[in-house]
Amino acid sequence: MSKSSRWDSTENESKHLPIYRHKAKLVQAVEGSTFLVVTGETGSGKTTQLPQYLHQAGMCRNGKIGITQPRRVAAITVAQRVAQEMQCTLGREVGYQVRFDDCTSQDTVVKYMTDGCLLREILADPVLSQYSVVILDEVHERSLNTDILLGLLKKMFSDPAKSTKGRSFPLKVVVMSATLETDKLSAFLGGCPVFAIPGRTFPVTCTFGTAVGPKDVESTGYVKEVVRMALDVHTSELAGDILVFLTGQSEIERACDLLFEKAESIDYRYDVQDQTVEGLLILPLYGSMPTDQQRQIFQPPPSRIRKCVVATNIAATSLTINGIKYIIDSGFVKQLNHNSRVGMDILEVVPISKSEAEQRAGRAGRTSAGKCFRIYTKEFWEKSMPEYTVPEIQRTSLTAVVLTLKCLGVHDVIRFPYLDCPEERFLLEALKQLYQFDAIDRRGKVTQLGELMVEFPLQPGLTRAVLKGSSLGCQDLLLPLAAMLSVENIFIRPGNPEKQKEADKKHRALATKSGGMNDFATLLSVFQLCKSSDRPSAWCKDNWIHWRALKSAFSVETQLREILLRLQQKRDFPVETFDGNKSELFRRCLCTGYFTNVARRSVGKVFCTMDGNGSMVNIHPSSSLFDQEADLNWVIFHDVLVTSRVYIRTVCPIRYEWVKDLLPKLHEVDVYELSSVARQEVTDEEMIKWETREAAKRQPEVSTEDI
Ligand code: ADP
Ligand code: MG
Repeated sequence: MSKSSRWDSTENESKHLPIYRHKAKLVQAVEGSTFLVVTGETGSGKTTQLPQYLHQAGMCRNGKIGITQPRRVAAITVAQRVAQEMQCTLGREVGYQVRFDDCTSQDTVVKYMTDGCLLREILADPVLSQYSVVILDEVHERSLNTDILLGLLKKMFSDPAKSTKGRSFPLKVVVMSATLETDKLSAFLGGCPVFAIPGRTFPVTCTFGTAVGPKDVESTGYVKEVVRMALDVHTSELAGDILVFLTGQSEIERACDLLFEKAESIDYRYDVQDQTVEGLLILPLYGSMPTDQQRQIFQPPPSRIRKCVVATNIAATSLTINGIKYIIDSGFVKQLNHNSRVGMDILEVVPISKSEAEQRAGRAGRTSAGKCFRIYTKEFWEKSMPEYTVPEIQRTSLTAVVLTLKCLGVHDVIRFPYLDCPEERFLLEALKQLYQFDAIDRRGKVTQLGELMVEFPLQPGLTRAVLKGSSLGCQDLLLPLAAMLSVENIFIRPGNPEKQKEADKKHRALATKSGGMNDFATLLSVFQLCKSSDRPSAWCKDNWIHWRALKSAFSVETQLREILLRLQQKRDFPVETFDGNKSELFRRCLCTGYFTNVARRSVGKVFCTMDGNGSMVNIHPSSSLFDQEADLNWVIFHDVLVTSRVYIRTVCPIRYEWVKDLLPKLHEVDVYELSSVARQEVTDEEMIKWETREAAKRQPEVSTEDI
């Protein structure tokens, strides 16, 4: 297809979007007010069109238009689409930036990015002097970073002297939301105007299933049920594409495999109701998928072929796929939640909310009437599904965000303007962690180390370990490790049991090669072996390692190294020395970041965490320490997996004396001192209760026994 004809077709397409008729009025509304809330059904053209309208109206004269997305994939695919519509090369006028992947240039005036990226930009440039318009998109998703950006932008304008200082032209802020809460948003932003794009939606009939009840939360029986239903729709319903909602990559791949297998045996002459349907095109869609594969999702299927997209929640609002007529809803979503049982954030599969279920169903009614098949029962809907999704700010760790706020000069993080306030205990927990990592001092002020830490797009603990490594001159061990922990799982797990055995064997050999008994060292060793190999992709294939993940890790490592170098040139870095072998040096650095994740052997193979929760945990079977019996008394771990048991994953043995001096930090801190503001609001009675509870937590006595 020639460039011009492709342009014509996309231009024509975009003229049919509901937003098109409101172009002039929308531009006027943005120009006429500092804050503007824009709402409209998903798929009406907000994300792809509005930035183009503002660009055409000359709003990029003074600065860029920045559009934030809560999800990486959305930022990337939408930027691709808009670059195509504007007939430019991605990365020139239209670009994107997500963590560890910057596809922008000097010429970029329309910039899609994750909300986390804009937050980092505010750190370097608090008045966003490069931007003429900032669009916070997908605000209804209520991601943690978007919520914080909302508060920061509101605060910026609450002090006009400050908001214009360093800017030569006014900043316009647009807040876009697919649904509800527009009154709340407008009120939050000082009663700003709301622009509602009228949209037409068609009725969607929803049916409940009989198979999945509340007990299925624990098992993954719903994958099979989803597949069965998708095939049922394919064979018995009229033409029209299917969108299936599942929770994550491995599940989606399994469902696709099953679908492929079952669809093979369909005899289209006899089995299918609609005789115009002659095949099924099965496409997965999840966050970490390569982008060229994602592009396929948007293309119409060949004639007489039905498309079936098996997706995560990303297809609920962030991305709109045309032609969908049938929805299969599993009723589950993967969500990051703070788990008080283990005191950490954990990715969990949980039932979606009723409002989320409505949103999923709505995807079938964009262009004509549709059907939504919920695999769960009415009882599940009534008893297990909450009305609304709790905003992320009220359910995840706030450590990184609190450090960012503190570095931005927001000392009183409790009275920050939140759209919905996080629970105070989460804020206190964040302050406590930052104090434990020496990022803030006893009075809650950011330390020099804290200012260094905020520069790294990593979890504070991992950053702490990297910085320790650099002080000790062993950044070559810690940077690759941090990179490996920042990419998706590197180990291939084939579905076929024979192949699985082969992969396991290779993975075990890699663990042994790195000295054995240390999952962190295995990751480091895989990085180094692959990097030094003549044919790295062949090496990966041979060892059952995901080459794509390794490639990302190489790029992430380079970027982390650049950040470190830049900081080393700018500031004084502490220099320390160390006598001991490399393995010990490596593990000691890890201890400075992971002492909050220490566990001690309790009985048999069960370990007990030391963070005050005293949770009983088991080493995950994927760890090279899983079968180790002897001499394993103290370990640190990277993350936790909760099923019917609590497992720790990515584990390494340490010696008690390495953490001995750090462990008291887990208990000594008075969080009310860290947040001097909070204390005034606490009654004596509450204080006594809190102190008693903290004292009780100190119970697991630390002994001096060691390996
Ligand atoms: P909204 O933000 O209001 O939900 P969008 O701007 O995302 O709407 O979508 C408008 C239209 O653009 C939809 O019909 C969608 O299918 C289409 N679209 C968006 N991204 C792509 C893409 N990468 N390829 C093809 N079509 C796309
Ligand atoms: Mg959108």
